Amino acid sequence: MNYQAPLRDMRFVLHELFDVSGHCARLNNGLDRETIDGVLEEAARFAAEVVSPLNRNSDEQGCQLIDGHVTTPQGFRDAYRQYVDNGWASMTGPLEFAGQGFPQLISASFHEMLMAASLSFRIYSGLTEGAVLALHRHGSEALKQAYLEKMVSGEWSGTMCLTEPQAGTDLALLRTRAQPQADGSYQVSGSKIFISGGEQDLTANIVHLVLARLPDAPAGVKGISLFLVPKFIAAADGTPGPRNSLSCGALEHKMGIKGASTCVMNFDGAQGWLIGEANQGLACMFTMMNDARFQVGLQGLGIAEAAFQGGLAYARERLQSRAISGPVAPDKSADPIIVHPDVRRMLLTQKTLSEGCRLLAAYTALQLDLEHGDPQPEARQKASRRAALLIPIVKAFFTDVGQEVASLGVQLYGGHGYIREWGMEQLMRDSRITQLYEGTNGIQALDLLRRKVLGDGATELGALIDELAVHVDAAGSQAALRQMAEAMQQRLAEWRELGTEVVEACRRDVQEIGAMSVDFLAYSAYVLVGGLWLQAAVRAQAALDAGTDEPGFYRAKLQAADFYWRRVLPRASAHRESLRGGAHCLMAMDEADFAF
Ligand SMILES: Cc1cc2nc3c(=O)[nH]c(=O)nc-3n(C[C@H](O)[C@H](O)[C@H](O)COP(=O)(O)OP(=O)(O)OC[C@H]3O[C@@H](n4cnc5c(N)ncnc54)[C@H](O)[C@@H]3O)c2cc1C
Repeated sequence: MNYQAPLRDMRFVLHELFDVSGHCARLNNGLDRETIDGVLEEAARFAAEVVSPLNRNSDEQGCQLIDGHVTTPQGFRDAYRQYVDNGWASMTGPLEFAGQGFPQLISASFHEMLMAASLSFRIYSGLTEGAVLALHRHGSEALKQAYLEKMVSGEWSGTMCLTEPQAGTDLALLRTRAQPQADGSYQVSGSKIFISGGEQDLTANIVHLVLARLPDAPAGVKGISLFLVPKFIAAADGTPGPRNSLSCGALEHKMGIKGASTCVMNFDGAQGWLIGEANQGLACMFTMMNDARFQVGLQGLGIAEAAFQGGLAYARERLQSRAISGPVAPDKSADPIIVHPDVRRMLLTQKTLSEGCRLLAAYTALQLDLEHGDPQPEARQKASRRAALLIPIVKAFFTDVGQEVASLGVQLYGGHGYIREWGMEQLMRDSRITQLYEGTNGIQALDLLRRKVLGDGATELGALIDELAVHVDAAGSQAALRQMAEAMQQRLAEWRELGTEVVEACRRDVQEIGAMSVDFLAYSAYVLVGGLWLQAAVRAQAALDAGTDEPGFYRAKLQAADFYWRRVLPRASAHRESLRGGAHCLMAMDEADFAF
């Protein structure tokens, strides 16, 4: 697979829809259009020329554990060195620790490129960025001074150590212990499983952020604290000092992302330091988890884009059968399969889901930037509420899309899609984990419905619908888009009513929360992405009306938007009907009767 970043579409989203230059001016970071475009072009080159060529071999070779040391696939070390030396690692890091402070609206495009080029390679640095955020926001000054600069530069990496054999979704069950020491540090003991990048050969040090319990901690999630536990304790001169008592006990053998090490990590009285307040670990970890959830959403998007590119290239060159309406390429033995309506259905589903998720990724990144960087406190709070509502949708919907679009990639290649050499089956295997980790998609749906919608009586949801409605009303005044705008108007009204209906049903019967949540998330995602597709169509129509010199690009946007509302958006209706099926049909069956 020869991945090329979709730069034209990224520029469309960033400049033409979300005014990235104006956004940067608001955040006062001095980035102008020329710089932004230059960075994106270099990023695209790095992803295509340095990272993408590693992906196939990383799947074949995987990681190895020999005498406690993990080696990453051939080429990862060299590519990672370039990643650090060229400043990519520090792109989003805080300025005071030598980061470059790029807004997420820009960095999300780069991260999508990396995910598409090699998900395994990106996982190492993605977790480090999340760990930087958590440490920067909650760590003591001494910890920040000792660890942050090296983590921001990418010379040292970060991990998140939550999961234990008996504690996955339910972190209340975790058993790792932290014993206070006279010098103010802690001895951390316990075993963590499934730790991404827990051990690797890319960085000189690995800084683990570990959830553990203090001796007097209350039971449940209110008794969890967060600790920084480094592989090597930082020396005063900033070099890796003494080796800590922790080790990688095993590597998991997994379905995909084989180039990303997934480790059993044993902490045997390892020296650690508290991050944030005692028993507030989960709240601190949430800083990292929110970032990680957005990043995992981008993983789904990256995979989807890569599968679309593969599918499109194949559909243009594979010759099978004649078009139903008569030969299109009579000089060839058969027509390219892109002439067949069903192949086009698959390609357009891939294209509109990928591009639609890119729109929502940008909209969410913008909120994340404003949440922390807007000069006005009120605007920061508003963006924070909006981002909180969007994150579970992004995580779950994008990763479901990634899996669906990768599966369509396999389908487009016919039997060849099932064969390793074309790369489609790898995308499908690699993307499967994204629906599971960082909170399974079922848990994201619960988060959306219980905490984000029921939590405020659907107020923030209503505000989002109001905002989308303003754009839909404006679109209705353009004759060419009237039909699409009317369809969206109806959907927004329906979404608002469904929000109220769901809140009432869940208040009457708590079982409905778990019963309705997955369908409610999917419904919301399809309609939200539809609203953004309409905004893209408005912009494309305006460009065509103004006589653009790129009519093909804008025409394709309009046609893709048309496909989305006619052929993809109707899926929302099925989710609405399904959630209305209610909890009773799920809960009525006796557990023993499942076996019959
Ligand atoms: C390759 C890989 C990398 C990983 N990387 C990391 C990492 O770096 N750090 C880390 O800490 N962890 C990591 N994980 C762990 C991952 O986050 C967990 O596997 C995930 O959170 C789910 O936990 P579990 O596997 O124990 O599943 P369980 O929690 O046992 O869930 C099993 C099923 O039950 C459902 N379920 C559970 N509770 C509920 C509920 N209340 N309501 C409805 N449904 C429910 C789930 O949705 C799921 O379908 C990784 C896992 C893998 C496979």
